[in-house]
Amino acid sequence: MSISHNLSHIQQHIQQQCLACKRPENAVKLLAVSKTKPISALREAIAAGQRAFGENYVQEGVEKVQQLADVEGLEWHFIGHLQSNKTRVVAEHFDWVQTLDRLKIAERLNEQRPANLAPLNVLIQINISDETSKSGIAPSEMLGLARQIAALPKLKLRGLMAIPKPESDPEQQKIALRAMQSLFLTLQAEFDGVDTLSMGMSDDMSAAIACGSTMVRIGTAIFGARESQGA
Ligand SMILES: *Cc1c(COP(=O)(O)O)cnc(C)c1O
Repeated sequence: MSISHNLSHIQQHIQQQCLACKRPENAVKLLAVSKTKPISALREAIAAGQRAFGENYVQEGVEKVQQLADVEGLEWHFIGHLQSNKTRVVAEHFDWVQTLDRLKIAERLNEQRPANLAPLNVLIQINISDETSKSGIAPSEMLGLARQIAALPKLKLRGLMAIPKPESDPEQQKIALRAMQSLFLTLQAEFDGVDTLSMGMSDDMSAAIACGSTMVRIGTAIFGARESQGA
C-alpha cells in the first residue's frame, strides 16, 4: 500500500473514532513518525498533505529538517530520548520536544533556543505505567516541573506525552490513558496554552482518542515496518 493511501486511511479512522466519541472530527492531529525512513518517504507523505513529523534520533532528525528546508509549513517534533549534550541542535532545528522530563534539559533548551525563532513547544513526558525502563517523570512530579518550565521564556508548555505499557485489551489500555487524561485536565486548570495530549500509537489509537488524546503518533501504519526497531 502506498504512503498516501495509508495516510488517508488513518485520517479517516481518526475522524470516525472522534465522531464515535462525540468529539469534533478534527480534534486529533496525526503525527507521522518517520524515524529510520528515507527522505523520499517523507516527501511522499508531504505530497499527500502531511505536515507534522516525529523523529527520535537527533542527527537523523536534523539532517531531515535540513534536507526538507525548502518545504513550507512543516512541523518537526522530537520524540526520542534527549541527552543534555544534544540539546543545542534540537533547540535550533525542531519546533516541538515531546519528551521533556528534567529541569536541566529544559533550562538548556531555553538557553539554546535561537532568539529569532518562536519559543520551543514542549510536552512533559509522563512515565504513566511506572516502568523502570522508561523515560518520563512520575505523575506526582508533573506540577513541580511544569511550574519550572513555565518560568522559562523560550519554552512554551503545551501539554503531556506518554508511551503506556503495551496492552492488547482496549479496557486495559484505557486505565493508563484515563490516568493521563486526568493529569492533563489538572495541568490545563493551572496553565494557559496547554492544548496537547500526545498519546496513542498504532495499537492503542482508538482507546487513546476515546480518552481525550489530541495527537496520535503513528509510524509503521504509514511508512511500513522499520528494518531495525527504533526506541
Ligand atoms: C516509534 C514511535 C512511535 C510510532 O511507532 P509505530 O509502532 O511505528 O507506529 C510513536 N511514538 C514514539 C515515541 C515512538 O518512538
